[in-house]
Amino acid sequence: FPTFATARLLHFARSCNMQRQQSEALFEEAKRYFPGGVNSPVRAFRSVGGTPLFFEKGDGCHVWDADGQRYIDFCCSWGPLILGHNHPKVREAIVDAVGLGTSFGAPTRKENELARLILDNNPYIEMIRFVSSGTEAVMSAIRLARGVTGRPLVIKFEGCYHGHVDALLVKAGSGLSTFGISSSAGIPEAVANDTIVVPLNDKRALEVAISDYAHDIAAVIIEPIPANNGLLLQTKEYLEFLRDITRRHGILLIFDEVISGFRVGFSGAAGYYDIRPDIITYGKIIGGGMPVGAYGASRDIMRHIAPEGDVYQAGTLSGNPVAMAAGRAQLAECLQPDFYQDQAQRTEAFVGRLNRFAIAQQLPFKVFSIGSIFWFAFTATEEIRSSDEIDPKSMEHFRALHKVLLERGIYLGPSGYEVGFVSSAHTEAVLSEAAGLIEAALAAVFNRSAEGVA
Ligand SMILES: *Cc1c(COP(=O)(O)O)cnc(C)c1O
Repeated sequence: FPTFATARLLHFARSCNMQRQQSEALFEEAKRYFPGGVNSPVRAFRSVGGTPLFFEKGDGCHVWDADGQRYIDFCCSWGPLILGHNHPKVREAIVDAVGLGTSFGAPTRKENELARLILDNNPYIEMIRFVSSGTEAVMSAIRLARGVTGRPLVIKFEGCYHGHVDALLVKAGSGLSTFGISSSAGIPEAVANDTIVVPLNDKRALEVAISDYAHDIAAVIIEPIPANNGLLLQTKEYLEFLRDITRRHGILLIFDEVISGFRVGFSGAAGYYDIRPDIITYGKIIGGGMPVGAYGASRDIMRHIAPEGDVYQAGTLSGNPVAMAAGRAQLAECLQPDFYQDQAQRTEAFVGRLNRFAIAQQLPFKVFSIGSIFWFAFTATEEIRSSDEIDPKSMEHFRALHKVLLERGIYLGPSGYEVGFVSSAHTEAVLSEAAGLIEAALAAVFNRSAEGVA
């Protein structure tokens, strides 16, 4: 099947006149400067093949590449752009802030303003600390958990991504719950050995890990809406189980909400499921497209952070005024009445249509979604809740689909394990146009006629 799809695709690609000269030239140059030609690995298109597109500009739900071609963008910078590109309120806030100076290394009013907006509208944290990336937020949250509990170990779940923090760039060994094996060179075994990796959606595995090491475990960290390895939606009941078992053993529960925060609702997955973790990490949307991360918790826990407490954490550009202004402008829009309902409704209509198409055409394809996050899975399965349920071979289909969609003017993140995002700039009309193009692309990939489908 895949080989056949690929052959069809080559035929299709030849019949298109997509321009790549500028992107190709820029990529050739970039390869002289950066490892793999990029400043973050997934951008290199290794898993879909071909040259990464270099972008010139974005506006609303569209982006333009260096060759002047326009795409409907479902990557949205991997999540931060919940209002789409170049939103006037965010742009104006950034421009105004720049006029006052870009960095002081001293407190500014803008940090208070963003913090107030968040804390007044998110009952799951009482204090916050701003950093400059999601990775930094997670790294600091882990240190905080260790500082508060005085314990060394951390439990993470296979299939959750938490940035490139040493202790969390680990994968499971063989067995139900095991000490991590580093998934990157440069991470000492001693560091990987401080992390226990368990499968998602498996109560027994977590119970075993906790009963073996309870008094040494500082934290259990999870993406409550795992969205970095497909979209592995957990049940509320499972997340409540995590809350209960960690509380019983004095272990802190960390929700890594770098994607889900301000995405499935203003108070993220904590609010969506109404579960109160001990520490929450944020990133992506919180910065309005500028580099911001944050972690928050109760007053009692946050008091452990320097200079109040003895857990050291600092940043030259933390709370950067331009970034704070961008974040505040974006989050203020998210607080408009019905913002999240509207996001979810438009996404559901889009996803529902694609799923009905796949069923009607009997394609092994299903879109999983929550709020305005969606994931294209090449499967006939009803539910996928852990990473071992994803068939690696299905990525062949994604690769083929990605190519066809680029030809037709739709940009998805270049990996089948990545989710897509709908922004407020993706109107019903745009989503309906996109759905039509995706249906035709699916038909091409699976070599079926879309005729007879409304
Ligand atoms: C993106 C992401 C991170 C890392 O954030 P960066 O800003 O890329 O460092 C951490 N956790 C989750 C859940 C993420 O999606």
